[in-house]
Amino acid sequence: MHLFNTEFGIYAGTALVAAFALGAIIHAVRGAGGTAALRRGLATGLVTLVSMMLARLATWACLAMLGGEDQSAALAGWLFGLWPGLIDTAALLLAGKSVLGPEGLMWFATIVGTLSGFFDGLWATHNFKGLGWLSLPLDTTWGLSGTTNGVLLHLVNFAWADHADEPQRGVHRYRQGFRFKSGFAFTQGAVMSGMDGHPPDTPLHDHEHLHVWQNRWFGPFFTISYLGWMAIMLLPALLIPKSGVNAFLRVEWLAYYNNPWELWAYSRGGYRDANHAMAWSVAKTLAFAVPFFCLVIAALVIAVLLVV
Ligand SMILES: [Zn+2]
Repeated sequence: MHLFNTEFGIYAGTALVAAFALGAIIHAVRGAGGTAALRRGLATGLVTLVSMMLARLATWACLAMLGGEDQSAALAGWLFGLWPGLIDTAALLLAGKSVLGPEGLMWFATIVGTLSGFFDGLWATHNFKGLGWLSLPLDTTWGLSGTTNGVLLHLVNFAWADHADEPQRGVHRYRQGFRFKSGFAFTQGAVMSGMDGHPPDTPLHDHEHLHVWQNRWFGPFFTISYLGWMAIMLLPALLIPKSGVNAFLRVEWLAYYNNPWELWAYSRGGYRDANHAMAWSVAKTLAFAVPFFCLVIAALVIAVLLVV
């Protein structure tokens, strides 16, 4: 498990040059003059390099703390990527052997950091003034699991979904792109999708922007507790009837609208019918959320203690 080795050196150098060239070409095609295109290319290359190094460093440090075994990699994979955790846990349970392991996880994080940095640099996403400078290191370390899904969203969206040119906002806004339901946006990491007609400082943008910072401040706890809440609410939503409300709506309300992370985001903007038969009040949500969050924290602590 090496932080720096020859393979990484070659990879980092190649990624820096490729990001610089692609950044300059894309901005030249979009109409930037020669010097401006080169400057944007340079910024793309530098942010790519920094993001890649931070993601690799964070994963290396996490693995070093957890012991650097296959089990450590599976746990770190859950915390800082979600998908690698799922893959390695399944592999360990079914075949007794990791697919990624520590070395593979470090490469996974390196590639996620590279792609995230490339899109951030390309669109000059981060504002390095004031507290804005925190967005880049948080996205590529503590918030890496959300950023992993954000990179997937970029890969699905970048060629067709009309990325808004809104530099230094700390977020990406695709006007079109992947979403679960028409009229709803979808945000992963710092990437918002399906946001046509919702520029900065409008209610839905404020809602989605809060999700971006929920991921930055709460990192793996946000991702795991958000998904955990959905999973736990699925069964009661399907099994407990409510007059006049079909099963689909019961799932939507219990798993999504009453999710504490959503209730918080809806307090910032977006429409949630507080008078709906399935709507929970803030007090009721807190009564369920506090013990649930304590359980998630206890589960995470037990998982760490089992591995180290
Ligand atoms: Zn939301």
